[in-house]
Amino acid sequence: MRQVTFQVGRTGAITPVAELVPVALAGTTVARATLHNGDRIAELDLHLGDTVIVRKAGEIIPEVVRVLPELRPAGALPVQMPSHCPECGEPVVRLEAEVVTRCINSSCPAILRGALIHWVGRDALDIDGMGKKLVEQLVDKGMVKSVADLYGLTMAELASLERMGKKSAQNLVEAIAQSKTRPWSRVLYGLGIRHVGAVNAQALTAQFTDVVMLQGAEVGAIAQVYGIGVEIARSLTQWFQLPANQQLVKKLQTAGLQFAGATPAEPMGAQPLAGKTLVVTGTLPTLSRNEAKDLIEQAGGKVTGAVSKKTDYVVVGEDAGSKLAKADALGIAQLSEAQLLVLVDGI
Ligand SMILES: [Zn+2]
Repeated sequence: MRQVTFQVGRTGAITPVAELVPVALAGTTVARATLHNGDRIAELDLHLGDTVIVRKAGEIIPEVVRVLPELRPAGALPVQMPSHCPECGEPVVRLEAEVVTRCINSSCPAILRGALIHWVGRDALDIDGMGKKLVEQLVDKGMVKSVADLYGLTMAELASLERMGKKSAQNLVEAIAQSKTRPWSRVLYGLGIRHVGAVNAQALTAQFTDVVMLQGAEVGAIAQVYGIGVEIARSLTQWFQLPANQQLVKKLQTAGLQFAGATPAEPMGAQPLAGKTLVVTGTLPTLSRNEAKDLIEQAGGKVTGAVSKKTDYVVVGEDAGSKLAKADALGIAQLSEAQLLVLVDGI
């Protein structure tokens, strides 16, 4: 193993990857292998320069399964997860209940794309005509560095994008302006703070009718809101503590977004998984089991522990075992984490 690099995914999850001296394995040359997370690194007792055993999990993704300590170079240092995000340099966090280390800076380039797609979504700021392809272009061209930058886009800038006529650019500018009238509950949801779904955002903004109140609140006070527990409350306070996020709130306030006011009673948004029963099996690339469950439930779906004829989808991660075999046998539709995220976002 030459070194360990750290990749930041769409949700801010940081995945350690072993960079290897290339080796032929089951028909391909493997130069990189996943280490999954910090716990796995500790279990392996991985040191820099170690000789490692690699296998292909699920026939596709190579992973490090064992370390050969007897071949360890003298004085090799143990591998550790980074304390700061390799993309943006902000401190990373790891919640107690999770194995995943994450960057929670909403301006981090690695998460920007996902944040924008969430922000413009129907349940959030509902910017009509702003799809995934357009978001990708805006990020790739460096025209948007945070969701706040959407509010500075001009018609001429938008018209310069691929497949964008003058008329569409004008409609888009209007749709962006229109989003400034969305209530505070949708803005809070749109910020994409971990565990703060549309329903939680409504409960929170009903209690904290101004962002200043929420920013100043202690974990204990937030956790007392109906439906909000300590985990969600911690996630919120951590998010608001980051200077980059505080700046984002300021910019959005300056742009004219609503950060105070009454919470209208509205239907709990589109529920793309309403009435569906899902089973999660194996280790997902970025989401923990609980996070996947939260996401599915927020989208109206139900999560059960066992595959049956009533199961609509099986979400399959690495090392999926008997549940996957059963789903195969019953012919039940299978989803990867990425497909689940698309389904949940309704994009
Ligand atoms: Zn980052």
